[in-house]
Amino acid sequence: MSSISNEPRLIRPYGGQLVDLIATGDAADELRARAREIPSIQISERTACDLEMLAIGAFSPLDRFMNAGDHARVLDEMRLADGTLFPMPLILPVEPSDAIRQGRDVALRSAKNELLGIMTIDEVFAWDADEVSDKVFGTRDPRHPLVSEMRRWGPLAISGPLKVLQLPAHYDFRDLRLTPAEVRAQLDAIGRQNVVAFQTRNPLHRVHEELTRRAAEAIDGVLLLHPSVGMTKPGDVDHYTRVRTYAALAERHYEPGRILLSLLPLAMRMGGPREALWHAIIRRNYGANHFIVGRDHASPGNDSNGRPFYGPYDAQELVSRHSAEVGVTVVPFSELVYLPDEQRYEEVSRIPEGTRTAKISGTQVREEFLNLGRKLPAWFSRPEVADILAETYPPRHRQGACIWFTGLSGAGKSTTAEVLTVLLLERGRQVTVLDGDVVRTHLSKGLGFSKEDRETNVRRIGFVAGEIVRHGGVVICAAISPYLATRDEVREMIGADHFVEVFVDTPLDICEARDSKGLYAKARRGEISDFTGIDDPYEPPVTPEITLDTVTSTPEENAKRIVAHLVAQGFVRSDEGWVTEIGAPTAARSV
Ligand code: ADP
Ligand code: ADP
Repeated sequence: MSSISNEPRLIRPYGGQLVDLIATGDAADELRARAREIPSIQISERTACDLEMLAIGAFSPLDRFMNAGDHARVLDEMRLADGTLFPMPLILPVEPSDAIRQGRDVALRSAKNELLGIMTIDEVFAWDADEVSDKVFGTRDPRHPLVSEMRRWGPLAISGPLKVLQLPAHYDFRDLRLTPAEVRAQLDAIGRQNVVAFQTRNPLHRVHEELTRRAAEAIDGVLLLHPSVGMTKPGDVDHYTRVRTYAALAERHYEPGRILLSLLPLAMRMGGPREALWHAIIRRNYGANHFIVGRDHASPGNDSNGRPFYGPYDAQELVSRHSAEVGVTVVPFSELVYLPDEQRYEEVSRIPEGTRTAKISGTQVREEFLNLGRKLPAWFSRPEVADILAETYPPRHRQGACIWFTGLSGAGKSTTAEVLTVLLLERGRQVTVLDGDVVRTHLSKGLGFSKEDRETNVRRIGFVAGEIVRHGGVVICAAISPYLATRDEVREMIGADHFVEVFVDTPLDICEARDSKGLYAKARRGEISDFTGIDDPYEPPVTPEITLDTVTSTPEENAKRIVAHLVAQGFVRSDEGWVTEIGAPTAARSV
């Protein structure tokens, strides 16, 4: 039986053998010494992922960031200059500087300044983000995350032999971060020749489990559960949460010897079909000869017109077309549905018309289960997975929220905020108040009222507010915050769906008549300058969540309107029965 043990069982790496760029021993010591004498450049998080993938051979046979020849041909034909099929460009973009010269060595450092490696620059070339957008992603729409990101990359690219001294440091899930060689060794130990890889950037539910198990059984092989944890689509579930779900599933719900879980430090491009083909090549390097490609593989979502960037099966088609050349067979992700009457999953194509099926969409998972604190049903998610997700996504009434008051001095921001604070404390929420006047005595001490200083003040408040919201607190901010763009920036910083902008719309003459702090009189007399509303602008919000009138409504009435809005949003529980007392809360929203 074991007489064939010298035969390599697994498919060979793409291009024959695995690239290994990691310097060891004396060579590494010499390079480390050399690094002290040469210029350094800091590389982005994305480039650090690419460097790691290159170093461990995940992109074999590619052994460096692309030169102009490779890059041009990859854009036009999905091939390296030597003809090897490779669909995704991989450049190291830089800003022009003295260090960037042909023939020079440069030390590559991470954002945290760790020395990662040394490149001998043998080519410097200009690249064009629009050209890459057109040819690789088929769009210039900035809704495509990579198209918009590439605009911020440096205009030059450098290429040349690369020696890696240290992989970017990872302190999480170290046992699961296997290199291609390590994955191959473990697959060899399992001893099956057929391996089907599954790429994912989402938590896995029962349907994925069913599908991957069936795929492994169908090829009589092993499932390589291979989630991307480098960079995925902005807004995805964080990888800490995801990996915990994968680990729970791999350990408890697959047959031992049928699954290997390993994390892939890939920075995804959301490049649809081209990315799917790239994924297949990468997985071959890890020993997989089959790859699952479903609907919308590596999809960037919808464009500015709400239309998908790529057709749902474009990726499957492109990978299938090149399957022979890549040596990886596509396992189509057939759509499975749950049959509640039979308590099992079945392929859509195999169920008779009219059969009762059950489905929960991704949006429903968030809105109808997690946000409401309802547990996902066991037919949809394994209880372990449901629990992990529930921990990461507490119900709305335990999520953070920012109530951002804006309006003229004396409009009534602080007064209303004070009442609101008490009402929220009464309803069991933790509240922090960041009042403009108070903040200016510590957080923003020393800042004045120039446009720049006001923006800094508002951004600082926004930064602190963002931290509070992220940790599940309610923060009430009450600063004039006169500039629309800066308020919008803060909304983005905090997260638009946790941000409630409250416009305290008190006319200037009323604020001035109140003059509770005596400042308007001083401003009129010219004793203070740049006073908002007098000799400095106030830009009212265009679509605030709530607009308050302080002339006809009392601070208490206004505060209650805000509470009603928060109840409607789920940030505060409505167990008081007081909402009806003050009328329809939704009328508060002015759109
Ligand atoms: P801001 O924080 O916007 O600068 P303040 O809340 O400090 O404004 O001052 C508003 C002043 O207006 C206070 O003296 C408050 O008593 C008075 N005021 C009168 N009516 C109202 C109202 N309906 N809402 C809020 N404040 C009011
Ligand atoms: P901003 O959002 O413009 O930074 P803050 O709410 O942080 O405004 O601070 C404004 C407070 O500072 C006002 O309520 C007022 O009490 C005081 N103040 C002093 N000088 C000025 C000024 N020139 N313009 C506006 N507010 C001023």
